[in-house]
Amino acid sequence: MAPAGIVYIDGVFYPPDQAKISVFDHGLLYGDGVFEGIRFYNRRVFKLDRHLERMYHSARLIGLEPPVAPDEFRRIILQTTARSGLSDGYLRPLFTRGPGDLGLDPRKAKRSSVVVICSTISLYGAKHETGLTAIVSTYRRTPPVSLNPNIKSLNYLNNILAKSEANARGADEAILLDLEGNVAEASADNIFVVKGRVVYTPPTTHTLVGITRETLLELCQGHYETRVEPFGLPFLLGADEVFITGTGGEVAPVVEVDGHRIGTGRPGPVTRDLKERYLHLVRSTGTPIPANGTGEVGRAGALPSEA
Ligand code: PMP
Repeated sequence: MAPAGIVYIDGVFYPPDQAKISVFDHGLLYGDGVFEGIRFYNRRVFKLDRHLERMYHSARLIGLEPPVAPDEFRRIILQTTARSGLSDGYLRPLFTRGPGDLGLDPRKAKRSSVVVICSTISLYGAKHETGLTAIVSTYRRTPPVSLNPNIKSLNYLNNILAKSEANARGADEAILLDLEGNVAEASADNIFVVKGRVVYTPPTTHTLVGITRETLLELCQGHYETRVEPFGLPFLLGADEVFITGTGGEVAPVVEVDGHRIGTGRPGPVTRDLKERYLHLVRSTGTPIPANGTGEVGRAGALPSEA
C-alpha cells in the first residue's frame, strides 16, 4: 500500500508512490545533502521557522546553495502540507546535491534538488506507555573533528549501525557514547537523565542540536532545575529516570539500559509530566496550515495526474 500523503519535487507535486529522483543524484550516491524532520499537529506546523533555520544552516555547512530562498521554501512546505489533506503528520524536507557524475566532487552536480515529503510517522507505539529498552552501542558517535554534528546530513550510517545493533540485541534503542566515553545521544534522539528534580542533558558538542531538546529545556523552566553538562554511563545507569527526545519520537521514557533497570523500571513522574507539557505545547502552537491546498507553488502547482 502506498504511504499516505504527497511529495513535492522541484516544483511538481506527486503521489508518494510516483515520487522519484535520479539515481545520479549525489544525495543517493554519497549521502550528499541535508534534511529536516518536522511534525504538524491539528493543522499547525510545530517550530517551522526553527527547523528552516537549522536546515539552511546545515546546507551552509556543506556548501550547498539551496535552489529556493527560505521564504519561498516556507511557502512550499505549507502548500505541500495543505495539499496532503492530513491534519497530523510528518514533513521531511530535503536538499540534495543533485544529479552529477560518478565521482564525489560536488562541483559536478550542477543543480541541487528540493524535496518535501509530507506523510505520517509513528515511532515507539505502545512503548511510550511502558518505556523503551536500550543498549549502549559499541559504535561511538562520529566525532565533531570528523563531521560537525550540526550538519543534519543524508548520511546516517553511524546512527543506523547503532540502531541495527539494538535490533540484533532485542532492544528498542541504542545509546551512543562519544570518543571520550561520555553519553552523546540515542540513534536519532537527544537524551536526558533525571535525578531528583534535576534534569540533565549533555552539551551538543557531539550531538545534533535537537529542537525537541531545546523545547524540553524551556519547558523545565520554573519547574525543574536543568544542567547541561557531560556525564558518563555510570551516572546514566544510576538515574531515577531517563528519556529521549526527538521530533518523531517526541518524549519517550527509557526504562532499561543494557539489562540494568532505570529507577523503578517504569516511566517516572518527571518524564510523564514533561511529556504531557510537550504534547500540550505541540498540539496548541505552530504555524497554521493554509486551508487552500491547491494554490500555485514554484513552477507548478498541480499533481502530474491533475495537469
Ligand atoms: N539526534 C539525532 C542524531 C537526530 O537525527 C535527531 C532528529 N531525529 C535528534 C537528535 C532530535 O532532533 P529534533 O528534536 O530536532 O528532532
